Amino acid sequence: MTSIHALCGGMIELDRSSFFSDVAPGTRITIPVMCFLISHPRGHALVDTGVHRQARTDPVGRMGERRASLFGMRSAPTDEVVSQLALLGLAPGDVRYVVNSHLHFDHCGGNEFFPSSTFLVQRAEMDAARRVLGGLAMRYTPSAIDFDHPLDYQLVDGEHDLFGDGQVVLLPTYGHTPGHQSLLIRDGARPRLVCAADACYTRENMDRDVLPNVLWNPSVMRESLAALRKLRDQAGATVFYGHDPAQWETTPQAPAPVM
Ligand SMILES: [Zn+2]
Repeated sequence: MTSIHALCGGMIELDRSSFFSDVAPGTRITIPVMCFLISHPRGHALVDTGVHRQARTDPVGRMGERRASLFGMRSAPTDEVVSQLALLGLAPGDVRYVVNSHLHFDHCGGNEFFPSSTFLVQRAEMDAARRVLGGLAMRYTPSAIDFDHPLDYQLVDGEHDLFGDGQVVLLPTYGHTPGHQSLLIRDGARPRLVCAADACYTRENMDRDVLPNVLWNPSVMRESLAALRKLRDQAGATVFYGHDPAQWETTPQAPAPVM
């Protein structure tokens, strides 16, 4: 049986309008960066590595001036993945797979702490991130300092069955970025839980069908959002949104299991 723990990968204060394209700027909200540990009989998989711990103590040094002015770091010292794993009695060396939903700074900040893990990233995501590093401008801001390390990156194309038994599957949910992916956990054949990551920031985005301002391709993102909504509303899966403050409040957090 697969167990799931919700981990805090950071707390960020930002303007609410960045989450909802139809909301006027001027209201600040604090949002969680949700990471997950999936414990399967064949190993532990970490979904996203959150914000790097340096961002809390030295935001400009870590994120640069522009990002540090947009985002206020509101994390407690233990709101980072290595401390969160320790709550479960685990160290980075215990993690077999790291799944990066995408390569924004708040989803791959802790990658460097997992030198012995295999990373699973969509090929389209890595290609786009490397093109940006190469100087090609696009509406997408990956963060070299976060992901560009000599790690074991295994690039996948579309759906990928993590443990080979259909119970933990990477789902392409492109749109927020060129190669964004979510993760589906099944119970036998039944979709049980989806870690949507930034394919859907909050329940409100899904319920009102509102896209955020930060995205790569709106029509592609809307298709991905519709596919996730179908998993929730038709297949009965529980969806974990990437950054939903209300959901975070009511979700059992590590060391307690989600389920
Ligand atoms: Zn993102």
